[in-house]
Amino acid sequence: MESISIPFNRPMCFGKEREYAEAVLASGHYAGDGPFTKRCHSWLEQLLGSHRVLLTTSCTHALEMSAMLLNVAPGDEVILPSFTFVSTANAFVLRGAKPVFVDIRPDTLNMDERGLERSITNRTKAIVPVHYGGVGCEMDAIAACARAHGLPIVEDNAHGLFGTYKGRPLGSLGAMATLSFHESKNIVCGEGGALAINDPALAERAEVLREKGTNRSRFFRGQVDKYSWIDIGSSFLPSDILAAILLAQLENAEFVQERRKRVWKTYFAGLADWSASHGVRLPCVPEDREPAWHLFYLLMPSLEARQAFLAHLRAAGILATFHYLPLHLSDMGRTFGGQPGDCPITEDICDRLARLPLFPGLQDAEVERVLERVLSFQP
Ligand SMILES: *Cc1c(COP(=O)(O)O)cnc(C)c1O
Repeated sequence: MESISIPFNRPMCFGKEREYAEAVLASGHYAGDGPFTKRCHSWLEQLLGSHRVLLTTSCTHALEMSAMLLNVAPGDEVILPSFTFVSTANAFVLRGAKPVFVDIRPDTLNMDERGLERSITNRTKAIVPVHYGGVGCEMDAIAACARAHGLPIVEDNAHGLFGTYKGRPLGSLGAMATLSFHESKNIVCGEGGALAINDPALAERAEVLREKGTNRSRFFRGQVDKYSWIDIGSSFLPSDILAAILLAQLENAEFVQERRKRVWKTYFAGLADWSASHGVRLPCVPEDREPAWHLFYLLMPSLEARQAFLAHLRAAGILATFHYLPLHLSDMGRTFGGQPGDCPITEDICDRLARLPLFPGLQDAEVERVLERVLSFQP
């Protein structure tokens, strides 16, 4: 195998990560909900305008908390795209729910709001849109449909932190939203996530579920004189050491986002003519939304062209990758009745999608090298 000189992703360290993590180590308070966790909470609450943001050990765990908070139970159904990461489905399946997969729009590759109405039954418990690549879903239409049926929305916002929809932050548009700080995302602490709570009625119980089903958070605030077991729950809070690393990353968010945007825009401009004349489609960003610049994809004309394209880049030491496989056609998805043809757009684009390297430490010269190599490919 050729050696890779331009990786697909490389997390970036800004310097303060070490200082902050050492402050935690020196303080002797290593557990969760220490001073750095609280600073991350405030930072994210300010950004999103959420009633409450709680750090979690992953976006997967934030999704699991959202399922618990909505009392998702066996027999319930949850509507989500088939074109997403497994956790979007698994979090609800763990509570006994059946995932109901809807197809995506051919332009943004987001949940197709036009397929929602017919997927809703009297067992539907929630709608879970995913802002793919950090480009917002058709939230007005999704929210109108949810409101008409009295259903809560949980935004899987793993890609969308710093993106907006009609000027409103992604992550502020559902009853809850989940964030990821996995090393592959825009802001990273290795493994981590957060649950943003926009419906104040859910906040108090969220603290309990996250603290092993106890009212420990109220105890620490002096609101009760001892803490005890009052609900289901688990241990969803990360160590303050991770929160320290996360805070340093959040403080550099402007740089991260500027850099990602610049790389994204350079790819987009540099590939416009080539893509138009070679049957390749570039990402679509509707005018009323600002993306989070999470990823840059190309839709090649066929599976064969996509595979040849990935190999063409790899031969030059550049790592480009495909993305999600349709969840409804996975082994688990089929146990819920998933069949070929259920989500035709998803099935088609999963075979043709390729993502280019995109990370804040990618140098201009490296971006040029990627562009040159892409332009030399004949689909
Ligand atoms: C990365 C990702 C997740 C899971 O995030 P973790 O923090 O690794 O649990 C969930 N949903 C989507 C859409 C993702 O991209």
